[in-house]
Amino acid sequence: MAKTPERSLATRCVHAGEAADAHGSPHTPVYSTSTFAFPSTAAILDVVEGRASGSLYTRYGLNPSIQALETKLAAIEGAEAALAFASGMAAEAALFLAHGRGGILCIGDAYGGTLELLADQLPLLGIPTHLLLGAELDQLDERLASLPGNAGRLVFLETPTNPALEVFDIAAIAERAHAQGALLAVDNTFASPVNQQPLALGADLVVHSATKYLGGHSDLTAGALMGSAALIGAVAGWRKNLGTTPAPETAALLARSLRTLPVRVQAQNASALAIAEAMQAHPRVARVLHPGLASFPGHTLAARQMSGFGGMLTLEIATEGADPAATAAAVVVDRLKLFTLAPSLGGVESLVTQPCTTTHHGLTPEERQRRGISDAMIRLSIGIEDPAELMADLEQALAGVGE
Ligand code: PLP
Repeated sequence: MAKTPERSLATRCVHAGEAADAHGSPHTPVYSTSTFAFPSTAAILDVVEGRASGSLYTRYGLNPSIQALETKLAAIEGAEAALAFASGMAAEAALFLAHGRGGILCIGDAYGGTLELLADQLPLLGIPTHLLLGAELDQLDERLASLPGNAGRLVFLETPTNPALEVFDIAAIAERAHAQGALLAVDNTFASPVNQQPLALGADLVVHSATKYLGGHSDLTAGALMGSAALIGAVAGWRKNLGTTPAPETAALLARSLRTLPVRVQAQNASALAIAEAMQAHPRVARVLHPGLASFPGHTLAARQMSGFGGMLTLEIATEGADPAATAAAVVVDRLKLFTLAPSLGGVESLVTQPCTTTHHGLTPEERQRRGISDAMIRLSIGIEDPAELMADLEQALAGVGE
C-alpha cells in the first residue's frame, strides 16, 4: 500500500530519517556498535517488551544507523515501512520465506540468483515455484490458481528486466494477483524509485538490490524491502533470525548515497537515452533495447508507468557474417576504455557486460534463445561521465568489429 508523501522525492532523499544529533551533525552519525547500554532493568524490559522504542541490538535492526536508513528507504518508495538487508538476495530470500510459502509465481526474466533460489532451493523446503516468461502471461491466472496457497502466494517480477529491458504492466498484474488473494512484489532495482513507484501502481511490496542504483558507487552490498507496516512486520523476524541485517557502517554509507539518488539517476536517464538514440543509427549495431526509444516494444507502457526510462541499455552487435556473434560482442567489450567490464550496474561509473558470458552464462544456449538473449548482446550500465566521451568510446570500440 502506498503512503502519500508530503515532500518531493528529492527532499525526502536528503532529509527523511536523519536523526537530530546532540553534537549538531546534519546527518545521522555511524553507530558502530553491536549492543546498547540501559540505565535499569525496567528500561531494558520496556524495549524488549515493545513498550518503548529504542536501540537494543544491531542484528535485530535496533541500531540508530539502520533505523535512520529504513525511515529513508520507506520514504523514497512511498511506503509505510522498510527493512534493510545485507544484500539484495537476503531481502528476496526473507520476502519469499515470509510471504511466498504457499507458492511463488515469477514473471519474466529475473536476476540469475533469484531464478536459482526459486528453481533449485525453495522447492527443497516444499515451497512450490513457477517461472513464466513474458510471452506466457496468458497463463498467469491458471498457474496462480494451481498453487496451493495455504500460507500466502506471491507473484514476483522485475520491470524493466535484465538484459532485454522487457516492461511489465504493474497495475494490471497487481489486479490479477489480488483477484486470487495473492500479493505482488516488484524488484525495482533496474528502474530505481526515481523512475518507477510500484506501490503507487498497486504492488504490495518492493524489493531492491541496494548494491546497484541506491548505493550508486559500486562500493557496498545491501538490500531493501518496502511495503505496508503489516507486511514488512511479518518479514522482520525472518531477517532477525536468519541474521541478514546490514552492518551499521554499510547502513550509514547507503543512507549517505541515497541523498544524491535523484541527481545521479536523472543524469543516467538523460545519458542513456542520448546514447540509445545515437546507437540506433550505427551500422555496426543491429538493435538497441531501451524503454525510452519510441521504436522499443515496451515504450508506450514504460511511458505510462515510469517517470524516466533508466540508465540501462542493451546493444545487439551486427556481426555481418564476419565474426560469430559472441566474438563480435567480445571485441566491442574488450576495446572499450571508459566502460569497465564488470557484471553489476547502477554505479556512477559506466559498466559493460556480455550477458552470455556473465549474468546468463549458467543457462544453456537454447534457454538463452528462449529468453530472447542473444550472444551478440552487450549490456551497458550508463554512469555519470560526460555522455559525449562515452559515445566516443563506443564508436571506437564498434569500429573494431570485423576488422
Ligand atoms: N535483483 C536484481 C535485479 C539484481 O540485478 C541483483 C544482482 O545483480 C539482485 C537482485 C541481487 O542483489 P545482490 O547482489 O545485492 O544480492
